[in-house]
Amino acid sequence: MLEKVVIANRGEIALRILRACHALGIKTVAVHSTVDRNLKHVAMADESVCIGPPPSAHSYLDIPAIIAAAEVTDAQAIHPGYGFLSENADFAERVEKSGFIFIGPTADVIRMMGDKVEAIRAMKAAGVPCVPGSGGPLGEDGDENHRIAREIGYPVIIKAAGGGGGRGMRVVHTDAALLNAIVTTQSEAKAAFGNGQVYMEKFLENPRHIEIQVLADGQGQAVHLGERDCSMQRRHQKVVEEAPAPGITDAQREQIGRVCVEACLRIGYRGAGTFEFLYEDGAFYFIEMNTRIQVEHPVTEWVTGIDLVREQLLIAAGHKLSIRQSDVVIRGHAIECRVNAEDPDTFMPCPGLINHFHAPGGPGVRVDSHIYEGYRVPPNYDSMIGKLIVHGADRTQAIARMRVALGEMIVDGIKTNVPLQQRIMADRGFQLGGMNIHYLEKRLKEQHEKAIGLG
Ligand code: ADP
Repeated sequence: MLEKVVIANRGEIALRILRACHALGIKTVAVHSTVDRNLKHVAMADESVCIGPPPSAHSYLDIPAIIAAAEVTDAQAIHPGYGFLSENADFAERVEKSGFIFIGPTADVIRMMGDKVEAIRAMKAAGVPCVPGSGGPLGEDGDENHRIAREIGYPVIIKAAGGGGGRGMRVVHTDAALLNAIVTTQSEAKAAFGNGQVYMEKFLENPRHIEIQVLADGQGQAVHLGERDCSMQRRHQKVVEEAPAPGITDAQREQIGRVCVEACLRIGYRGAGTFEFLYEDGAFYFIEMNTRIQVEHPVTEWVTGIDLVREQLLIAAGHKLSIRQSDVVIRGHAIECRVNAEDPDTFMPCPGLINHFHAPGGPGVRVDSHIYEGYRVPPNYDSMIGKLIVHGADRTQAIARMRVALGEMIVDGIKTNVPLQQRIMADRGFQLGGMNIHYLEKRLKEQHEKAIGLG
């Protein structure tokens, strides 16, 4: 087993990783910025190292500082969590070259998945269904680009190969607008991601976002842990996630899950990973793979009973996967609400001091959060301050439990999006299930118009 792990992250995921390490008897090293001295996991870690000032570029993204922390504490491995350096192939490479274990896939696999053109090419070759598209980067030839677009059929979407975080995309509806859109996206992509390559896909008009969780040991074993529905989004950011996805049959799950497992084996995938798909009219279309643990992993943990971070640690320690596909059984229904320090109406971040905090509890309630009474949410990082996860025998019970839990939650001193989450749980469309990725924004717009007297 690993003896000591550096947790190269902050907030709720750092705490989540620390808990999994301690449950396996692994010692932990917390690295933190100066403003993060009072984080809960820093107090709980066996050791802690301050790695720099508040701006992420000078702390949580400072590769030499993190590797130095592993060196001075004599740790063996580094867990990157999500965000920050978790999908940075150069980081993974430098960690391994410095003699430490990177808890995740190999740098080559991270690099391939970070280039969407390469990722789609590899996935197609592995038999994963992709969105109809150009199949490679677009060239200079305008006639050829028009031909590709007409063959795919308008509307199409131009996407940056190096894009991420919902940026670097442009929808095109007509021949007349195509060439301009390609040039603009190319120059934006070059400026934002240092890679001007763009490609073309069919723009799906009303898809759901459904993703498949996988675990692979890099030694010939891989399993899928079913799907999550993450269609409740605002600005391409997930707000609510659930497992299983409403309406997906066991046969569909098995079929798409098996495709993902085979792809993992083919590319030599190691660790936890997620295949993201758009789902429309009963068909799955691959859009990208996340080569790390995700924010929404707890819903999968709850319906499968499998501790994903524990599995990541075991795989990194060189263990073969002990879970077989037949061991993975989906039980009941789980929902996660992200809790953000933000105004529930304007979505403006709302950092500050938490005067009072009461966490909900009871059967089927899990709170993954680092906040406590007297904790000050700094303005320097993502506004997510925790996640509320519930489980029920079925979706109806899960929603009922979530509504009670949200009602019990008290975070005083700062604004949170808990009132918004309550509105979502009470929404008829959400309760029906299976809404598409535009649904939440559409409802928010309607409510806003009603509130200002337009409705
Ligand atoms: P990123 O890495 O920036 O998150 P993705 O490729 O995952 O980019 O796409 C982000 C979001 O953009 C998707 O969840 C979806 O809302 C929208 N999107 C991407 N590709 C398409 C497409 N072909 N058709 C419709 N919407 C798309």
